[in-house]
Amino acid sequence: TEHFRAHRSCTTCPYCGVGCGVSATVKRRGGGETVAVSGDEQHPANFGRLCVKGSALAETLGERGRLLQPRLHGREHDWDSAMDFMARQFARTIAEHGPDSVAFYLSGQLLTEDYYVANKLMKGFIGSGNVDTNSRLCMSSAVAAYKRALGADAVPCCYEDLEVADLVVLVGSNAAWTHPILFQRMQAASTRLVVIDPRASATSEMADLHLAITPGSDAALFNGLLNFLVERDRLDRQFIDLHTEGFDEAIDIARDWSLAKTAAACGIAEQQLLEFFRLFAQTEKTVSFYSQGINQSSSGTDKNNAIINCHLATGRIGRPGAGPFSITGQPNAMGGREVGGLANMLAAHMNFNAGDIDRVGRFWRADSVAQKPGLKAVDLFEAVERGKIKAIWIMATNPAVSMPDAARVASALQKCPLVVVSDCVADTDTARCADLLLPATTWGEKNGTVTNSERRISRQRAFLTPPGEARHDWQIICDLAARLGHGDQFDYAHPVEIFREHAALSGFENDGSRAFDISALAEISLRQYDGLQPVQWPVNERNPTGTERLFTEHKFFTATGRARFISVQPRTPEQSRSDEFPLWLNSGRLRDQWHTMTRTGRARNLLDHSEMPEIQINPGDARHYHIGDGQLLELRSPRGRMCGRALVSAAQKPGELFAPIHWSETLAQDARVSALAGPATDPHSGQPEFKQLPVQLSPL
Ligand code: SF4
Repeated sequence: TEHFRAHRSCTTCPYCGVGCGVSATVKRRGGGETVAVSGDEQHPANFGRLCVKGSALAETLGERGRLLQPRLHGREHDWDSAMDFMARQFARTIAEHGPDSVAFYLSGQLLTEDYYVANKLMKGFIGSGNVDTNSRLCMSSAVAAYKRALGADAVPCCYEDLEVADLVVLVGSNAAWTHPILFQRMQAASTRLVVIDPRASATSEMADLHLAITPGSDAALFNGLLNFLVERDRLDRQFIDLHTEGFDEAIDIARDWSLAKTAAACGIAEQQLLEFFRLFAQTEKTVSFYSQGINQSSSGTDKNNAIINCHLATGRIGRPGAGPFSITGQPNAMGGREVGGLANMLAAHMNFNAGDIDRVGRFWRADSVAQKPGLKAVDLFEAVERGKIKAIWIMATNPAVSMPDAARVASALQKCPLVVVSDCVADTDTARCADLLLPATTWGEKNGTVTNSERRISRQRAFLTPPGEARHDWQIICDLAARLGHGDQFDYAHPVEIFREHAALSGFENDGSRAFDISALAEISLRQYDGLQPVQWPVNERNPTGTERLFTEHKFFTATGRARFISVQPRTPEQSRSDEFPLWLNSGRLRDQWHTMTRTGRARNLLDHSEMPEIQINPGDARHYHIGDGQLLELRSPRGRMCGRALVSAAQKPGELFAPIHWSETLAQDARVSALAGPATDPHSGQPEFKQLPVQLSPL
């Protein structure tokens, strides 16, 4: 009789920041193995539901396209010689040019344990702040705004708030496609929905009200709302007086935004704007739910703060069904924030001040802790181009596709003396620039934790044997650390040991002034870690079973304990439309694809697309340019070009286009939308502007 075994593991989806629980069943029969996935009914993010991407996870597994062995300058090598080469090159570069001549570029796809040791090595022992992450491109403006207003990168809300709320205002979010399970939860709860987005989308179709505002006018809209709340006396005066500061200064600027002026700036009718303002003013239980449409802007931090101001003015924070709720794009963008994955942060939400630098150094027993923030993503790749960064290790991400001015980033990497790329995939635009390629494990093989958009830490569990020579990212980082002479401080045998240290650091000399605190998990046993149930931080002595909502007692992490209003002077996108570049290009995700399609592109039922990106264009514009559906188009910006097929759609307003972000040069020539984006970034967060790009169009 044939031997048959089935094994079920609970893990977490590796795609979006909803962080759904997945149940994976591996069936082994004879020499073969099949995997089936379904939603984990016990997981509080999704209660058994999965979207189309999560449902297709099993189809994305397997060895096809995987990087299976280290490759140095195109030739296969064993791990020992590959790591020896890497360590020698890093050590020599640091010795000759100093610690700031090297850098790590990380990813929201990494697990918290991977992220933690990468930061510890670079910021603690190499002594440079040059660790940044692709999360810089998706939510760093949300981080900067929370820190300005609340004193910490602390998301106040939880997913249940989306169901308890009577009104959810989705700003710059096509959640029906990008965060589908959360959108389903809103719909199932019959929550009233307002969508603020220049384009019609699957989300706006389901909304009670859609404000198709002029691209980039969000801060004007929320300043107008703040002024309306003042004029109609819909403020929570007691909350403002007792728990906030800076209201008078903020209102001095917002007062300028009359209904007529705001409507004109937003390009919508006064009546429609009034409808939204009244709805917001009247509905106590309101959540503002915002994402890349707000963040990917040269004034993204101010836009975030303009939204938060309206919640502070009405006291709608720290209460069920109310709050400003920024939603992350990636599965572990939040985990990266916790360990200091952003170049301007230290681990455990600590900052680059003398006290925190000293504290981290003592905890790590490190005497070369970086003394200043490192370079943020755009500056980091510019430093590569200028030859200031001479060795870079890129982990689990594809910046030659995703960074603005992508062609320039690729050519900078080609010139860099040492580019190391660790990835599960063999052929990506970035891998083509690498001197050294290191095979890493991926979803189903990795073991550790991730944190979703509601601060919930969940386990990713391994249920498959890594193929070929693939190794875990944390193991590769610790190997490099040991070869650089820091083996004692990176002597981990299992990710639980890293997690314990991360948890202990979060509570180390934390008198309550640091929001991120999971110290109650600092002595977790291997068995408890294996069985860890999803839990929302803080998890500490005061809240040993986790914390649903923050700020319920209206105490904030600022020096005064009060939340801060931020005076916001709305700014238009850095580049304007002109006679030469007369159209606005917006960009974003498709429902069925993820990032650069290295995984979702493997699933047959997700691959229902053409080999080229489709560029959405309004029917009137299509007529004007003599373009038919499916025709090949070329877009040019002051920075670069991309090509795609026309998709004529009334979802686009006249003068505005939309293109998906997923295509790379590996998939099709001139198909990267990021090639059109320039270096404009938000001054507070360093997040690049991707959403409002001036372009010209011509048929091919
Ligand atoms: Fe995965 Fe996001 Fe879909 Fe959930 S909503 S199954 S986390 S892609």
